[in-house]
Amino acid sequence: MTHISSTLAQQASDIPEGFASLSQGVFHASTIVFPDVAAFLHRQEQAHTGYSYGQNGTPTHYALAHKLSELEGGGHTVLVPSGLAAIVLVNSMLLGAGDHVLLPDSIYGPTLTVTQTLFAKWGVRHTIYPNDAGADIANFFEETTRLVWTESPASNSMEMQDIPAIVAAAHARQIKVAIDNTWATALGFRALDAGVDFSIQALTKYVGGHSDLLMGAVSARDQASHHELRSTAELLGYYVSPDECFLALRGLPTLALRMERQYASALRMAEFLQNHAAIDQLHYPPLPGDAYHHLWKRDFKLGNGLLSFTLKQNELANIEKFVAALKLFTLGNSWGGVHSLIAVAPQRAPKTGWLLRLHVGVEHVDDLLEDVSVALGALEI
Ligand SMILES: *Cc1c(COP(=O)(O)O)cnc(C)c1O
Repeated sequence: MTHISSTLAQQASDIPEGFASLSQGVFHASTIVFPDVAAFLHRQEQAHTGYSYGQNGTPTHYALAHKLSELEGGGHTVLVPSGLAAIVLVNSMLLGAGDHVLLPDSIYGPTLTVTQTLFAKWGVRHTIYPNDAGADIANFFEETTRLVWTESPASNSMEMQDIPAIVAAAHARQIKVAIDNTWATALGFRALDAGVDFSIQALTKYVGGHSDLLMGAVSARDQASHHELRSTAELLGYYVSPDECFLALRGLPTLALRMERQYASALRMAEFLQNHAAIDQLHYPPLPGDAYHHLWKRDFKLGNGLLSFTLKQNELANIEKFVAALKLFTLGNSWGGVHSLIAVAPQRAPKTGWLLRLHVGVEHVDDLLEDVSVALGALEI
């Protein structure tokens, strides 16, 4: 090589011998190079386990997927660009024209929307079932039912589901069960251990933990489903940036710390709100007295920072006044980060009025309680 342009164009990415860091390296790649023609021609065979093309994964992707599989207790994990993409991936893998899928009435809104629009257009039928169905889910099965979606607790209204009962009924008919486990993560609920076939989570929430990335994951109980998920993700052209993987990896060591702290603070907040004269309904399953506490106590190991409530004076003007008086809880969508947030949503029909959702962050709990107490004090009761 005699020209500097050739030297500059050559590969520069050897990992130096003897370099050991606690931090995961960030590897960017579209092209992967091969030592000989035989390896090049056989590259597809290692698409699920090794390196063949950037889309199939770099060491950074594998490091995150591996850690998430450990978090899920031995599952096999595929990374996708968002929580919603994880839901679309499971549907795309399992459902085709003529198939039928069941969704609880408490399901995350965009899951319902994508089922009603894209999947309906592609010939997939759906039925919405009551989140309280439990073993009675069997009443909703049809000849062509392939999949039951679950979500517990629901991320606005916090209804819980009897997952083991739903799994037993579905598996008796060879129907798969998927869960949106974003609320609890596998630290709170070991969905795969409970028999669920596919556990999805929005890493955007607690795993990322700092409100600065979007990513999703699907974990499957068995290797064969994992391969099929990976093939489907490839067909859909899903790809996740290694920079985002790095951020998600950075969230993992503090995941338990953050969730334990946010859970403890949210429990204090729920106890405070429960006794406040301005509050009508409070939704937080870890709180004794919540309508779903029995399920939470039976199946879950950890809570989180997300709770919701209604005001007795449930008009928008009153809600605007309350939100404007808050200083530490800022108005914003999404949750799972270290910052305290508040969101306002219309209640699901037939209920009317507004639901207020608090995400309790890592700020000192006494400051958070004072913030909410002062803002509620500004309201007429
Ligand atoms: C946020 C969220 C999602 C979607 O995650 P994105 O990464 O924002 O697409 C899915 N399910 C639940 C329960 C969520 O809260």
